Amino acid sequence: MPTCSQCKFYKPKDAKMGECTNVGIPVPPDNDTARCPARMFVPK
Ligand code: SF4
Repeated sequence: MPTCSQCKFYKPKDAKMGECTNVGIPVPPDNDTARCPARMFVPK
């Protein structure tokens, strides 16, 4: 499955953490998009 780091809503903060600009929560870059709380994965 793709990860949050591959989603257009992912904004990196550092190597280990980023922010989802869609739902406004911190997410790690390797978060499985199958677990996206908004179910709104959009490839970059
Ligand atoms: S919209 Fe979902 S898949 Fe995309 S960065 Fe946010 S939590 Fe991850």
